[in-house]
Amino acid sequence: MPADYHVHTALCHHAEGAIPEYLDAAIAARLPEFCFTDHVPAPDEYDPANRMDMATFPEYERTVQEVAARAPIRIGFGVEADYYEGGVEFLRHWLPAQPFDLVLGSVHYINDWPFDNPETRETWRSVDVRGVWKLYFELLAKLADTRLFDIIGHLDLPKKFGHRIHDRDMKEFSQPALDRIAKAGMGIELNTSGLRRPCKEIYPSPLILSLAHERGIPISFGSDAHTPKDIGYAFDLAVKAAREAGYTNCLQMRARQKQLVPLLAN
Ligand code: ZN
Ligand code: FE
Ligand code: FE
Ligand code: ZN
Repeated sequence: MPADYHVHTALCHHAEGAIPEYLDAAIAARLPEFCFTDHVPAPDEYDPANRMDMATFPEYERTVQEVAARAPIRIGFGVEADYYEGGVEFLRHWLPAQPFDLVLGSVHYINDWPFDNPETRETWRSVDVRGVWKLYFELLAKLADTRLFDIIGHLDLPKKFGHRIHDRDMKEFSQPALDRIAKAGMGIELNTSGLRRPCKEIYPSPLILSLAHERGIPISFGSDAHTPKDIGYAFDLAVKAAREAGYTNCLQMRARQKQLVPLLAN
């Protein structure tokens, strides 16, 4: 089993499970390693319902370090950071000052719309789906250009509720973003939470994964667990998808440095 590099905690207000419970679940799932990547706190009014506040961050860091220090497997310390206009300046200064192993970069908003939030799912009825995907990939390209993040989170997230576009458009919109991701030296993750959503597919799709492989973009694996039992979720399927796309190795993150390790058979 590869490392699980996308794990939340109850500190973000929409997940359950204390930090030590994730360790117990990771050991039970026979993971060699995992990294906490809870939602980054924001200094502004960006989506406060779905993240710890700045004052809670020291508790997050301390608890992860304490649990990691006595854990029988390696536990990394990271965040899932949001790319949004207005958030970049803060992240540019704040991220490098923290002792992170990994910073995931995710886009959850298009303009003021949290397009993957079940509470605003109805908005999908009134938008141009093709236009949303186009805008989304433009944001991902800008995210890559900032050089602030290590690995892209759930790369084709707009498919979450089943809003898909033709492969031809998907290629046209995603390729410029993938080129910029490759140029930035970033990785992407195979995020198995898509299998638990209406789209019933790993993020990203086999098509995008093969386009990423063509560009030499490295991969990691993430369950996006918001409850301990989901840690390592369906990693056998994710490893299979990675192999089918041609991957033979995956990323290991230490203090935000990337290294490739072999993708071993389970
Ligand atoms: Zn979350
Ligand atoms: Fe996310
Ligand atoms: Fe997440
Ligand atoms: Zn996520």
